[in-house]
Amino acid sequence: MADPPTDTVVLPPALPGAAPAALEARAVSAWFGSHQVLSRVSLTMPAGAVTALIGPSGCGKSTFLRTLNRMHELIPAARFGGEVFFDGEDVYDPSWRLTDARRRIGMVFQKPNPFPAMSIYDNVVAGLRLTGTRVNRREKDVLVEESLSRAGLWKEVKDRLRQPGGALSGGQQQRLCIARALAVRPRVLLMDEPCSALDPTSTRRVEETIHELAGQVTVVIVTHNMQQAARVSRQCAFFLAEQGTPGGIVEAGATSDIFGTPKDSRTADYVAGRF
Ligand code: ADP
Ligand code: MG
Repeated sequence: MADPPTDTVVLPPALPGAAPAALEARAVSAWFGSHQVLSRVSLTMPAGAVTALIGPSGCGKSTFLRTLNRMHELIPAARFGGEVFFDGEDVYDPSWRLTDARRRIGMVFQKPNPFPAMSIYDNVVAGLRLTGTRVNRREKDVLVEESLSRAGLWKEVKDRLRQPGGALSGGQQQRLCIARALAVRPRVLLMDEPCSALDPTSTRRVEETIHELAGQVTVVIVTHNMQQAARVSRQCAFFLAEQGTPGGIVEAGATSDIFGTPKDSRTADYVAGRF
């Protein structure tokens, strides 16, 4: 078993106002211009669980992830159909602004993208600014320490909070991005291949962070790494876009079933690395 991380801070299972939320996608479709890339994808992502989205490149995993917090609205040609519910609330209801969606449902991308010239402290605070969350100076200090601790980075950076984010290693930069996303205490965290650009040690640290977050935040993670999906997730959804058709879910279920007793031969082939 891996050594426990040395800088883990045990937080109450549900932070005030930040209990994990369940997400439910119902018949989600997506288009870029006239090109349909997702067709009627339905998936329940239970509160506090880690759900892994797996499948070959181009089958719509990133697009699906973006529809969950409406990030695709930043892409001019993107169109959406279907429904997404956040603890029963319609994410696409006109009463939800894009900033509401982004505050409640945070996101971390494949390539660590901290603001390189900005200090580590200000990078975390930037998470608050991006979503229009207002806090005073003292609350900022608390949130910066809390977020860096939850991201497993506090011990490594607490004496250099004024140094630029770009001075950190790639793996530390990714955990800084996780801290930035956590600063608003989102109730769901979307992670799009967060370890693809990282070395094995940094990958392990990020996986430890995901383990720590499980139960406190609902996590939806896209990964190409089957061992990683098996290590971090409770449930898995296998996406596929067969020749000329939009992407969809072939099979979803408990991770142990998807890897141990897949029902569909295409799932079996994919998890065994046959395509
Ligand atoms: P995955 O994450 O599974 O690799 P994506 O969701 O990135 O898949 O892509 C699904 C399909 O949508 C692909 O055919 C891709 O080329 C297309 N696509 C993704 N993003 C855009 C975009 N911004 N504009 C046009 N087409 C896009
Ligand atoms: Mg992708």
